[in-house]
Formats: sequence, C-alpha cells, structure tokens
Amino acid sequence: MKPRTIERIDVFPTRLPVVKTFQFASGSAGTAGGTAPHVFVRVTDSQGETGWGEGRPHAAWSYETLESVTTTIRGYLAPAVLGLPVTDRWGLHQRLHAAIGRGPSPGQPVAKAALDMALHDLCARACGLSLRSYLGGSDARSDVALSYTVTAHEAEAARDEVREARRMGYRHFNFKAAVAPATDIAVARGVRDAAGADAFVWADANQGFRLPDARRVVGAFADVGVDVLEQPLAADRLHLLRQLRQGCSLPLAVDEASVGPADFFAYAAEGLVDYLVVKLTRSGGIWPTLQQMATAEAAGLPLLVSGLTDSLLTKVAACQVALVYGFEGPAALNGSQFVDESAPFPDKARIEFDGAVHLGSEPGIGVVPDAAGLAELSVSVEEPSARGLQATRA
Ligand SMILES: [Mg+2]
Repeated sequence: MKPRTIERIDVFPTRLPVVKTFQFASGSAGTAGGTAPHVFVRVTDSQGETGWGEGRPHAAWSYETLESVTTTIRGYLAPAVLGLPVTDRWGLHQRLHAAIGRGPSPGQPVAKAALDMALHDLCARACGLSLRSYLGGSDARSDVALSYTVTAHEAEAARDEVREARRMGYRHFNFKAAVAPATDIAVARGVRDAAGADAFVWADANQGFRLPDARRVVGAFADVGVDVLEQPLAADRLHLLRQLRQGCSLPLAVDEASVGPADFFAYAAEGLVDYLVVKLTRSGGIWPTLQQMATAEAAGLPLLVSGLTDSLLTKVAACQVALVYGFEGPAALNGSQFVDESAPFPDKARIEFDGAVHLGSEPGIGVVPDAAGLAELSVSVEEPSARGLQATRA
C-alpha cells in the first residue's frame, strides 16, 4: 500500500493579545496591552488529512522569534520534509536536523516543535485515536491539574494572588524567583502559607541566580516548604550546578539547559536533578520529548510539565503527552493567564476549567484553531530569500 506522505505545510504567524504582564529573571513574556508571537502550522497529507502544531517563541527566553520560526519552517524545514511518510517521526527529525543543524544541543527547537506537533496530530487523527492513545496511553487517563503562575514579587501581593487563584480552582502554584531577589524568601513563604500544605509549590529562577545567591535561597526555600527550584543558574554553567548540588537539600530541576534528550540524559546520569521538566516546544516537539520521558522513567525521576505561555493547542498536546506516562499534574501551562486566545479557541472553557485540563477522546490533539480567529490575528513575515530556498533544496 502506498504510504501517506506529507503533501503541504502552511505556516500562520500570529500575535495574540497579552492580558497580563509577565516578568521573569531573563526577561518578559509580554506586557498587558501588547501582543505575543504564536506561530501555527498546518500539515496536510496525500489523502487530505490535516494536523496542527504551534511554536511560541520568546526572544527573552531563548534565541527564537516570530520571524525566525516562520521563515525557518517556510524556507528550510518544510521543503526538507515534503514527501516524507507521515508515520516516520524518526525520519522527520533526521531531516529537520539535516536542514538546521545543532549547536551544543538541537537548533531552533521551537520551529521544529511546531512541525513535529502537527505531524503527530495528523497521524493520530488518521488513526481515529486521541493523541495519548496513539502514543501508547489510554483515554481513561484524562485530567491534568494545572499550576498557577504567581506574578507578584512582594509577599502580601503573592498571598492575595494565591488566594484568588484558589477561588478559581487552582491547587498548585509556581513563582518566579531571582526577579526581585531581596523578596524571594518572603514570597516563597507567602505562596506556601496561602497555598496550603497539600499544594505543590515550585520556584523557577530562569537562570537568574549567581552561585552565592542560589546558595542563600535553597536552604530557606527548603525550610519554607518549596518543593523544587528550577533552572537556578545559567544554562551553560554546568560546573556551577555541580557546586550548588553539593549539600543542597532542595530538589532541583533544569529547564532551559535541557533541550535535546542527550542534555537531559547528562543531567540525570550525573544525579544533578530530581525531576524532568517536560516542555514540548523547548525540546523540539513530541518525539524528542518522549525520548526524554523514557530517560526519566529509566532514571527513576518524576515529571513536571511547563510551557512558554503557549496557546490551548500546545497546552492540550502537552497534557496528552504527559498522560501517556501517567502524569496528572501539576503542569505550569499558563498561557491562559497571560494571553487572550478566545479568537483561535472560542470553546476553550469546554477543556480548561477548575484549575485543570480535562481531555476528551477526540482524534488527535483534540483542539483545532478556528480559521477566522487565526486570520484575525495574523501578521505578515517577509519570505526567506530565493538563495536560501535553493540552498535547502539542493
Ligand atoms: Mg522554567
């Protein structure tokens, strides 16, 4: 039988309205009243089946932008994968990496993730299975508890924010450390006090600490009842993490430094981390994320899930993937706190409510962006040069 192959790839660069300012140690994900870049991708196969993916670049978080994701897919990644059998995700990543090479870890993971996600959606839809069943899970596992991202950097305001979020149904909380280091410990205490003893409380420094500051907070965070500190130090300073790890009573996790499966393997093998933070877009999509999850399973390390203030599409995809391995939360998939996604996803309330994501059994990811909503938010991006296209196709 002739295999179904990738026939067409459409890229939809959009900017979603930002409804709340979000500041972390390495920069900002957006300012209230502004817009945030989200690049949607639709893959169509030779039998007319489609799948959707998304890349959400943050120039303050890593090196990708709306323009680079759009032109990289249109000019380099898409031409490299046209004609590939849709089931061949191993082959997909071989071709993606041949088109855009690597530095210390896989290059342009946000752009690659959008294509990878769309192809997984397409394959699951072609099989008539939810993404989690297609990947080896079960529709019986369907709920993922979210973690609310606290944006206050002052203790009393953080307490108020947690109380309000609890009224909305959230039970777990993450906060950004190293933005206002003088208040980090007081904020941690405020979040834990207001969240209650059963909440999972999670600090993320986004590479913002220097070693002495990290050493200062880890003991106090542990005393206050913070459950884990994520990415305390610069992603390329592994030697500093080794030093912090010595005698550190607080569980640690890496985020920015764990792009490819080999990155996470190195951290797990050396015993430097206590959790795998699953993040589809940071890791180049679902296929490499599954490899990271298998590594975590083999290493005996539990999961956490986070995102890049992605839209509902990536949020639901991440929950589908996490549920394959029985993960039911907390997931810091916080896009709905910061962006207005009502245009592309007008029926979001059907899936996300009471501080959790509730998945159905629809084929694929289970969410399709509304065409009119995408058109309303679309922006134009200059095409890559003909020279670049020829180089890719040679
Ligand atoms: Mg993080």
